[in-house]
Amino acid sequence: MDISGLTIRQASDMLSSGACSAFALTTALLQRIADVDASIRAYASVDTAFALEQARAADDARAKGKSSPLLGVPIGVKDLLNVEGQPCTCSSKILKGYTAPYDATVIARLRDAGAVFVGRTNMDEFAMGSSTENSAYQVTRNPVDVDRVPGGSSGGSAAALAAGEAVATLGTDTGGSIRQPAAFCGCVGMKPTYGRVSRYGLTAFASSLDQIGPMTHTVEDAAILLQVMAGQDVMDSTSLSAAVPDYTQALQGDLRGMRLGLPKEYFVDGLDDEVRASILQAVETCRDLGAEIVDVSLPHTEYSIAVYYIIATAEASANLARFDGVRYGQRVTSGRDPVEMYGATREAGFGAEVKRRIILGTYVLSSGYYDAYYLRAQKVRRLILNDFEKAFASCDALLTPTTPTPAFRMGENTGDPLKMYLSDVFTATANLAGICALSVPSYETAAGLPVGLQILGPALGEEQILRVGHAFEQRRKVEA
Ligand code: GLN
Repeated sequence: MDISGLTIRQASDMLSSGACSAFALTTALLQRIADVDASIRAYASVDTAFALEQARAADDARAKGKSSPLLGVPIGVKDLLNVEGQPCTCSSKILKGYTAPYDATVIARLRDAGAVFVGRTNMDEFAMGSSTENSAYQVTRNPVDVDRVPGGSSGGSAAALAAGEAVATLGTDTGGSIRQPAAFCGCVGMKPTYGRVSRYGLTAFASSLDQIGPMTHTVEDAAILLQVMAGQDVMDSTSLSAAVPDYTQALQGDLRGMRLGLPKEYFVDGLDDEVRASILQAVETCRDLGAEIVDVSLPHTEYSIAVYYIIATAEASANLARFDGVRYGQRVTSGRDPVEMYGATREAGFGAEVKRRIILGTYVLSSGYYDAYYLRAQKVRRLILNDFEKAFASCDALLTPTTPTPAFRMGENTGDPLKMYLSDVFTATANLAGICALSVPSYETAAGLPVGLQILGPALGEEQILRVGHAFEQRRKVEA
């Protein structure tokens, strides 16, 4: 069975018609991983026995009359979401050998729906990075061009899709980590509105920015996954109580009656010419589909990277304090007292980028600098949200590039953290404002590299952005 490119919808149809069993599908997927992952390294670990056991259980449940679009569908999970009994390393040495004691809420929901968890996808350590080169264990390659990065931090989740090693995957997005790798690998990635999906059981990076989201082959699949993932959770006080709409209902044929804004600050110097051309062509396609296109301005965009790297590091420095060798993972016991033990454990357990962030975050929160950096960043964050609220008063969604360039070469940005940080310039704003955003494949470059079209929507505007993404995707498929 050839499973590469297989969508959730197709898998679900095959399973419900009896054309194939979950066991056969999972076996085929595991075979595909065995065949190609040595050269891509999308998966940090695969538990074959666990996957097959769940597949068998899905087949049994179906035989007893259960049905769900995800029943028996194999899914890859980013290695920072807790699946009970499975490793959860966050691609860090400090969590080597750690086993998750419980299911994250999204995992529990997907498990109830019958999804099969095939493996853990590789990532930048603690989700800090834009290339998956910061994993302590392995480097993931972009299946479209193996000399290029898959993006990050959910690079394993994107590469697994592009290499045909997953039907769908889960990622997390704090400043772009779902959308940027989706754009680099030519797949669909969605960051839901802050609070739409429970973060319980997600290893926290920056708690006011983190969201879990779907990474898929199609927009319809993103809607199907989000449907199961979204909703209030008593275990996450920031999860929203708003009712979850029927997301697949939002996928209509065209864009008539919609107003889409083009923020001029996202089409500035430094944007790669081919990316610009691709996005402007996508805008024309949306116009052709019936949308009205208007110019808008988000004047505080230029501060987003500075604000993001203050707030994200401040929160990370607090969140990562828990990794001290006492409760989780590895411990270095050489010290004379507990303080030396904490220090030795953290020195040995964290990679360079994680240390850089903890130091930066501790600095911006320290007395004397708090007002100048952290407090000021919070104020600018509000201005960034105000910009979006103003734009959404007259637009249903905004169209932008997801990233300023297509996938860069491996090693190209590793020596210059600031250059690496700039690849988040178009994505971090949505996290700072708490709004929703979707990246869908746009027209490729001449060399065949994927380009992402980012569709930004207001808080709880998932239906709008799914509708735009779906209409564009369908038209692009016809054109291809
Ligand atoms: N690349 C960004 C960073 O390094 C975003 C990461 C993310 O969204 N998790 O922080």
